[in-house]
Order: sequence, then structure tokens, then C-alpha cells
Amino acid sequence: MAREVEKKAVFDTDSAKEVVKELRASFVAGKTKSYEWRVAQLKALLKMTEENEPQIAAALRDDLSKPELESYIYEIAMLKNSCRLALKEMKRWIMPEKAKTSLTTFPSSAEIVSEPLGVVLVISAWNYPFLLSLDPVVGAIAAGNAVVLKPSEIAPATASLLAKLVANYLDSSCIKVVEGAVSETSALLEKKWDKIFYTGNGRVARIVMAAAAKHLTPVVLELGGKSPVIVDSGINLQVSIVLILLHVCFLCDLHADILICVFQVATRRIIAGKWGCNNGQACISPDYIITTKDYAPKLLDSFKRELEQFYGKNPLESKDLSRIVNSNHFARLSKLLDEDKVSGKIVHGGERDKNNLKIAPTILLDVPLDSLIMNEEIFGPLLPIIMVDKVEDSFDVINSSGTKPLAAYLFTNKEKLKEKFVATVSAGGLVVNDTTVHLAEHTLPFGGVGDSGMGAYHGKFSFDAFSHKKAVLYRGFACDAFVRYPPYTRRKLRL
Ligand code: NAD
Repeated sequence: MAREVEKKAVFDTDSAKEVVKELRASFVAGKTKSYEWRVAQLKALLKMTEENEPQIAAALRDDLSKPELESYIYEIAMLKNSCRLALKEMKRWIMPEKAKTSLTTFPSSAEIVSEPLGVVLVISAWNYPFLLSLDPVVGAIAAGNAVVLKPSEIAPATASLLAKLVANYLDSSCIKVVEGAVSETSALLEKKWDKIFYTGNGRVARIVMAAAAKHLTPVVLELGGKSPVIVDSGINLQVSIVLILLHVCFLCDLHADILICVFQVATRRIIAGKWGCNNGQACISPDYIITTKDYAPKLLDSFKRELEQFYGKNPLESKDLSRIVNSNHFARLSKLLDEDKVSGKIVHGGERDKNNLKIAPTILLDVPLDSLIMNEEIFGPLLPIIMVDKVEDSFDVINSSGTKPLAAYLFTNKEKLKEKFVATVSAGGLVVNDTTVHLAEHTLPFGGVGDSGMGAYHGKFSFDAFSHKKAVLYRGFACDAFVRYPPYTRRKLRL
């Protein structure tokens, strides 16, 4: 009996076939297409999130010891915002879009109709396991699809909570969670899907894309990369000028806190995007810094001061830093730090606690470009600083890597440098004078380019990612151009 139960729990290709069959039947019956169904599911998803915030935060703590505030801001609140936006805008998104027509088809009118793709598969990653699982699902539901979600096995507490909550709150004949690792994902990938939305690393993305190609299934691939931050030395001077003005205007001794914030704003924003995002385990976290030789020591001092203020003298004990997700990733990061040509370059941090999978915020200065740490995505709390003679040389450093990052950041006050940055650096997204916050703007597409991925989502882009844009042309019977029909005479050719 026990053996029978065990057997049933295995998710194989037959189970995948059953799941797809059930969801396709619901889709073909038109269940997911109605506006009312989409609204009901999005409301249920919102309610599910609102009613289970403590459980979600607890699962994220189990999986990553993620600080509660980070769980709330970057996972729970963002998902709720996505649901609310879709509920507010969906009617407009669904409306057919009028298109102009030309003399060729006169008289006619045309429109672009957004139709659901069908049954879609979402495969997500472990680092923001709640948001990255459900945010694409919001787009899939809004666009009228049936969905299978496969969360990451590397965040097991969140994966099993998702399976339980989705089954309890959403329409299980159209939306299902399949838990599992490589074999379960492989079983799912054998089936024909109408779209696969994958978040994770480039190696597995190639497996996903190869499986999708067998069925001509389109894919969205949300991958990673080495996201650089360029810090221009001019920023110090310019901010100092602002400071002097503020001194004069506000009688400095009363406003010391404000002044410190202005002065350190670049450093703080880099820290927030690096260690304040899952201790660097975020796809758009700053991967490395490029600055000028003369500015690097000032920047380093500023990092040291701020890091101590945020995480204390012993950051391994800080409750405000996530741990490394598992021992494999801990070993991977340790290898990057221990490489001979890199280990002597640690200028801040470097402490590790293997038992608790903690690594302190660590800064490395002047690491060689051919080191391991500069040739793979770090995805953790290590931050190399590369030094160049002139800030403009930063563009060559980025472009010489031959890969396109998911994000790139520049801190400067110089308009010309901003223009050159936008014109020269190819990345999924760019931010000037901050890090990671473009993610929160639903009017901007979020996705990679080249090695950092293909396709995009967020806001209406999520709806579009799961819709087919159907071209529809309406003609009248008048003006039936005889030139189209045989016989193809010379006279017709001259017309
Ligand atoms: P992961 O290990 O959780 O893998 C992602 C998914 O792939 C999981 O669901 C997993 O079960 C599945 N998988 C793993 N091996 C597989 C195989 N052989 N066949 C089929 N499926 C398989 O996550 P990860 O890849 O370690 O995630 C980290 C990477 O993801 C980083 O590169 C990061 O930059 C990127 N990422 C990108 C985004 C984004 O939005 N662009 C967000 C988060 C993470």
C-alpha cells in the first residue's frame, strides 16, 4: 500500500500528459478566455497573497533566511501590485487595437486582436521564488491562458506553499503547480506547450529552448549575466557642490543627516541593489564596479563606512542579510574567492560561515579580468572593483566581455556620459544613478538581450508575452480591382 502511494507521487511523462490534457480541455472549452474568469482568478491570486503574507515570509525565511522587509517589498508587495495593475488595465489590454489601412485594400478597416496562446508552462528560479513564480502567471491569466507552474526545487518551502495555496485559491482545472526538479521538469518539457516562460541560468535555458524547438513552441527566457556599475569620479565633486549649497540653505548642523544621505547616495544605492537584494543573489544585482584609479579609494572608504552602518561590525550575524541558498552555491562562491590570483585582492569582508551558509559583504579591488570571478555571473555577496584610467574606458571593459548583461548602471552627473552610456552599452535594461529599481516600473519591459535572455514581461508586456497578436482585415465588396485576376495582360502590367 505504502509502495503504491509512493509510486503515485512520482511525476513522469504520463503525469505530464494528464496535466496537459486536462488543461487543454479547459482551454478548448473556452473557460480561460472569458473576461470574468480572468478577473476572478486575478482577484483570487491577490486574496491568496494578502491572506497568507506571514506564511509566505516564513517560507522565504526557511529557503533563504530572507529578511522579512525584503520578502515584503520585493516579493509580496510586487506580486500584489502586478495583480492590481492587471485587474485595473486588463479591459483596455484585451480591447482590439485599431490599425490603419492603405489604398491597396481600400475600402477596408483593420484591427489587431490579442488572443490567448493556449496552455503555457512557467518554470521559475529559487532566488525570488514567490514573485518569479507568480508574476508570469499574472500575465498568463490576464491574457486568458491555462498555466502550469513549475517552481524551483532549490526553494522547497516556497515551492510546496505555492502548490498548496494555488490548489486552494485558484481554478485547478486551468492553473496547476507541479513540484519537482530535473526529472519532473524534463517530463513537462517533452509535452507540447503554446509558450514556455523560463527564469534561470543560461545552461538550462538551452535545454528548455531545444525542447521547445521540437514543437515549435515560442519561449521567453529570463536569464542573468554580469551587470556592471560604472561610477564616475565627477559625482563626488558635483555632490559636494550640492552639499555646500545645502549647508548654506539649511544651516548645516541641524541637517547633518540629510547631508550625509546626499553625499553617500551613490554608495547606498549600490549597496541596496547588491547586498540589499537577497545578499547579491538577484539577477540584476550589481556584479562588478568600474571606476577610475583616482576615485576607487574614495569609493572603497565610502562602502566600508556604509556597510558597517547597515550590517554592523560582524555582518555574518546580521539579520538583514540573506544566507547563501545552499552548500553548492556556497562552494561555488568560495571557489571564486579562493582563486590564487583573486584571494589577495579582498579589501573588505571575506568572512564566511560554512555551517550557516553565510558570506559577509566582500569587496575586491583590482582583480584581473581573466579571473574566474570576472568570467561568470557572481550571484552572491562578492563585489569586484575594476579600475580604469578614464571613465570612458568602462565601455570597452563592458563590451570586450562579448556578452550582453541583464542590466547596466551608471552613476554620473554628466549629460554627455549618460548619452554615451545609452548609445554604447547593450543590456536588458539601463539605469542612470541608481541600481535595480527599473524592475519596479511596470511601464518598462523587463527582460534580457543576447546571453541575458529573450522576450520581456511586467505590466502590459506580461499580457503581450502570453498573447498572439492576430491581424484582422475587414473588406467591403466594392472596388474589386480587376488587375488581380487573369488573364495577366500587358495592359494590366502597365497600370
Ligand atoms: P534554478 O536552479 O532554480 O533553476 C531554474 C529552473 O530550472 C528550476 O525550476 C529547475 O527545476 C529547472 N531546471 C534545473 N535544471 C534543469 C534541467 N537540467 N532540465 C530542466 N529544468 C531544469 O535556478 P538557477 O538557474 O540557479 O537561477 C539562477 C540564474 O537565474 C541566474 O543566472 C540568475 O541571473 C537567473 N535569474 C534571472 C532572472 C530574470 O528575471 N532574468 C530572475 C532570477 C534569476
